[in-house]
Amino acid sequence: MKKSNSMYLLHRVNIKALTWSRDSHGLYDYESHNVHKRLIQASSPLCIIRSGTDIQSISIPSELTSMPNFNILCSLDQEKSEFFIKPHDSEPLWQVVRSMKCQYGSGCILKEGDIIKLGRVSFKISSLKALDDKSSNDNTQDSEDIDCDIPNERETGVCKVCLYDDSEPNNPLISPCKCSGSMKHVHLLCLQKWLASRMVARNTENCITYSWKSMECEICKWTYPFSFCNKGRENDLFSLERPEAPYLVLEDIAGDRNNNKAIHVISVTSKNSVKLGRGHDSDVRISDISVSRCHAIIKLRDGNFLLEDNISKFGTLVMSKDKIHIPNNYSVVVQTGRTVITMSLKNNSSPFDLGAELDNSLDDENIQIGKRSL
Ligand SMILES: [Zn+2]
Ligand SMILES: [Zn+2]
Repeated sequence: MKKSNSMYLLHRVNIKALTWSRDSHGLYDYESHNVHKRLIQASSPLCIIRSGTDIQSISIPSELTSMPNFNILCSLDQEKSEFFIKPHDSEPLWQVVRSMKCQYGSGCILKEGDIIKLGRVSFKISSLKALDDKSSNDNTQDSEDIDCDIPNERETGVCKVCLYDDSEPNNPLISPCKCSGSMKHVHLLCLQKWLASRMVARNTENCITYSWKSMECEICKWTYPFSFCNKGRENDLFSLERPEAPYLVLEDIAGDRNNNKAIHVISVTSKNSVKLGRGHDSDVRISDISVSRCHAIIKLRDGNFLLEDNISKFGTLVMSKDKIHIPNNYSVVVQTGRTVITMSLKNNSSPFDLGAELDNSLDDENIQIGKRSL
């Protein structure tokens, strides 16, 4: 492998890529031994691609035509002597939570806007509140900022629910779906009321789950957004009861499942820890076969929400939109589709046996754990 620049010979990156043989919903089975292993050593930027179960690295820039039907998984970037893993547009890059390190040990400190994935089920951390700080109430956002087509002042129309045509600042006539003609408009309050009537709230000790059978317009089948902007003001279509802080709100991101939508409002204190999983004793119950019975745990540490994986079969992941720095002291483990990639920095020393060294340095990175959580 060629070295790109004599100034930066000090470091190289050991890369181990494990690809699960099965291609199922972009999952990687952390218990399976039926994986294809590929070891790569890099001392300059490169791109990692997958074709079938075959992983290859190509230098950047390069002609990408050598492998048929390949996916670009991610790239290795270099800035001076620092290396980074960079996501690629074609496939999301996820950090593997069980391999992540923070000041509280292993796990990931959650931030507002983070997307997490348990098995194949994704959630957005739409709100996160550690302290009962009144002043920050206004900053709390539950929802996507989706603009709706609001009728002009002079446009005439009647509400398809109550058939009145009045429009007040706090109860405007809006058109939040694709309906047209006499079915186009609805009052904000009429729509909120209608949606609330379809909502089911379920309580466990540490969590209130609001769920809807369907969030879509019955006529045009358009899925309503959680909120919309009208003249710069954000309006929620759903009103949620919030507990006292600290709490966080997880919003279901519909994947390939049905139309069910759910929002989980989770209370976390320094004394409890909140279990997420498929099991009946979970605080946040997720009914999906790819989710382990007790899949992940959320704890509160110094006002931070810490997400830990509970040795789940298909892993707990956090989406990485930005490049990830590869530090000196531990490996970075990412998943993209059914491939798990471990990257660790090594000081360049004497000639080495790449295979043996990679294996030694990466095997403590317990991404392959044979024991399944309950
Ligand atoms: Zn109305
Ligand atoms: Zn409609």
